[in-house]
Amino acid sequence: DPPKVNGDFYELSDTLTEEDRAVQLKVRNFMETEIKPIANEYWNKAHFPMHIIPLMAKLDICGLTYKGYGCAGRSSLLEGFIAMEMARIDSSISTFFGVHSGLAMGSIYLCGSEEQKQYWLPLMQRMEIIGAFGLTEPEVGSAAAGGLTTTCRKDGDNWVLNGQKKWIGNATFSDITIIWARNPEDNQVKGFIVRKDNPGFKAEKMEDKMALRTVQNAVITLTDCKVSEEDRLQNANSFKDTANVLRMTRAGVAWQAVGCGRGAYELALKYTLERKQFGRPIASFQLVQDLLVTMLGDLTAMQTMVYRLSQLQDKGDLQDEHASLAKVFCTLRMRSIVDHARELFGGNGILLEYDIARFVADAEAIYSYEGTKEINSLIVGRAITGESAFI
Ligand code: FAD
Repeated sequence: DPPKVNGDFYELSDTLTEEDRAVQLKVRNFMETEIKPIANEYWNKAHFPMHIIPLMAKLDICGLTYKGYGCAGRSSLLEGFIAMEMARIDSSISTFFGVHSGLAMGSIYLCGSEEQKQYWLPLMQRMEIIGAFGLTEPEVGSAAAGGLTTTCRKDGDNWVLNGQKKWIGNATFSDITIIWARNPEDNQVKGFIVRKDNPGFKAEKMEDKMALRTVQNAVITLTDCKVSEEDRLQNANSFKDTANVLRMTRAGVAWQAVGCGRGAYELALKYTLERKQFGRPIASFQLVQDLLVTMLGDLTAMQTMVYRLSQLQDKGDLQDEHASLAKVFCTLRMRSIVDHARELFGGNGILLEYDIARFVADAEAIYSYEGTKEINSLIVGRAITGESAFI
């Protein structure tokens, strides 16, 4: 029998409607023809391929699940498949896209006024404007819910922001960044649409990352950064509203982990079929097959889990703990899959030209961002025990 290199072993794509399947294949084709040939080069240079933005815009997939404002109102399931297709080839590109379409557009979609949505979302859907999302700070990562030190202060018709943000993806070139800041007056978190030409806004590229090198992460410094009341997200009144955005995007990160794992598994399987030792393809050895099957089992469990997760999301039943469990489980299994995949490449597994080294490195970032394993575990732990381990 011919080998089965397709990592969708239980044929979940077959359950998509013809229309959705066409979108999935359009994204796959884009990733394979436009991204795969340049992925290692840009990763190595730590540059972002700006020329792909208009090409991506043509795919017409930004804000895919949002209703109105130029967005298609399609299912979360389809959006999940798209995140997977992107990460299957390059997790940097899926991260760039997730920040723009999920975190930045999602903040406006969920927390913006009608006017804000009507103005910004169509521009962002067409990728004429690129967004970033600034929550994390140099001293505040996991504890963002209660501990933001960036402040906002009302000053007449404006707000004044002061503080620093760290790790903010896309922010070196984004047109707008959603900045989350605490108002010391009521101690609540508010969100602001901060434009890149604001004189109080400075974004500096973070150098020397060892993962997702194509993604441009920035340290942002806000110095008496004046933002008009018009650009305050009108329906972001507390961290609960921020958390609503994160619940949605965390589900997307779980799908990204599936994509990263799937790409690594498929690369490894192909390699073991081509690479010969002792006169035979290494795929013919029992120990190699055992590793491949372990990887496939993990991958299939991850795929079926996120599939159901998206069904819950599409029914409107997605809870924080559902998204957190999928994020924890899928990123843990992803880490194990890429590790086994690298092992199967032997020495070539640490050479960028064989792709797998990039997957191993990138998996580390996916594992830690959008809530670490510990934080997402504690969210699930709180839900199942009724006891909060957070202070
Ligand atoms: P810390 O919070 O300092 O955690 C360090 C360790 O302590 C972790 O293992 C953590 O789990 C553990 N820990 C902390 N508290 C507890 C506890 N109560 N119990 C048990 N263990 C605990 N942020 C943005 O706002 N926008 C972005 O676009 C963005 N992009 C990112 C891209 C990349 C590549 C990376 C790496 C990060 C990005 N982040 C972004 C930030 C990311 O969300 C944070 O890195 C993440 O939330 C963890 O915060 P931290 O790095 O400060 O780690």
